[in-house]
Amino acid sequence: MAGHASGDLVLSGVSRVYDTFTAVDNIDLVIPQGSFFALLGPSGCGKTTTLRMVAGLEQPTAGTISIGDHDITATKPYQRNVNTVFQNYALFPHLDILDNVAFGLRQRGVKDWKPKAMEALELVELAHVAKKKPTQLSGGMQQRVALARAVVNRPDVLLLDEPLGALDLKLRRQMQIELKRIQQEVGLTFVHVTHDQEEAMTMADTIAVMNAGKLQQVGDPGTLYEKPESTFAANFLGQSNLLRATVKGVSAEIASLDVHGIPMTVPAASLPGGASELWLGIRPEKVRIISEGTEAAGLNTLRGEVTDVSFLGVATQYLIAMPWGRELTVVQQNDGMPRAALGSNVCLGWVPANSFVLDASQDADA
Ligand code: ATP
Repeated sequence: MAGHASGDLVLSGVSRVYDTFTAVDNIDLVIPQGSFFALLGPSGCGKTTTLRMVAGLEQPTAGTISIGDHDITATKPYQRNVNTVFQNYALFPHLDILDNVAFGLRQRGVKDWKPKAMEALELVELAHVAKKKPTQLSGGMQQRVALARAVVNRPDVLLLDEPLGALDLKLRRQMQIELKRIQQEVGLTFVHVTHDQEEAMTMADTIAVMNAGKLQQVGDPGTLYEKPESTFAANFLGQSNLLRATVKGVSAEIASLDVHGIPMTVPAASLPGGASELWLGIRPEKVRIISEGTEAAGLNTLRGEVTDVSFLGVATQYLIAMPWGRELTVVQQNDGMPRAALGSNVCLGWVPANSFVLDASQDADA
């Protein structure tokens, strides 16, 4: 396909319909060669179906899939240079670890299978267990063996379908860092499916957020978090406060808003074109509890009553009741700043550029 680098994975207008149900709805994606890409969304949104279509285990009902210039839409799974790592790692119990990793190479008659398999085991730091059987290893180690087996023949694309789902939280966090290191070391394209936003943000260069078969937004973790483009993305990628707002006036730099009778501003450039009814979004950690009378000029400010204080370790989370009946969530680092007491009235402030704005007429349900 013209305009794409030689090894980019490209999905063009890809859909998968089962009878009358559309599991994947007209997806366009360009996944750059050598990137760590995450498909993120809630259960049933179509992530696995998308992955299975790239693997060739499922046929799209519309659209094409290509790697670089090769259209692989009709290519048999075993003829695609695409491997998959699943949550259940499915190692051969009767083979030792080295033979598990070397299995595919030996089947294809690769002569120097041994150094290649050892190199893959070294990559996942398991060369010392080459002669052990899978049952002698922990779940996390078995998952790393499955990974070594999947990268040993240097596929164009490695698909990972919730590969860490069976691991406990601590091991999962370790493996996220480990997977990222391995991807950077081998430089292969990784496409990772997960419903865990923290996992996607920890590992991926680029995240595609999916909902109900559709792509919602594609971007780097920072942009998705700071500037979500829908209430779904805003709520799925961490906590957010969404306030109903109406545009009152726009100058070159600043848009003036009315938020439940309170004047606020946002940078004019952040306004969704033509919208007058908005959601004004602000992440909990961008809101500061400020002393009454010390508000800096230009801050958006609100007043409310503290209805809950939760200690989170590095930070404290406050719920603040707003005059219009909703609660705002505020998260403050525990860095020696005075804490607000339960039941006290506080002033809240944030820098207008730290907020994001959504078109409420397009996106009514926050
Ligand atoms: P999960 O994280 O729960 O696996 P997912 O985002 O990976 O979810 P998919 O497995 O892709 O979602 O499924 C998307 C939708 O398509 C689901 O509603 C599922 O029931 C439906 N679906 C998947 N495979 C089939 C099939 N063979 N026949 C009918 N419906 C299917």
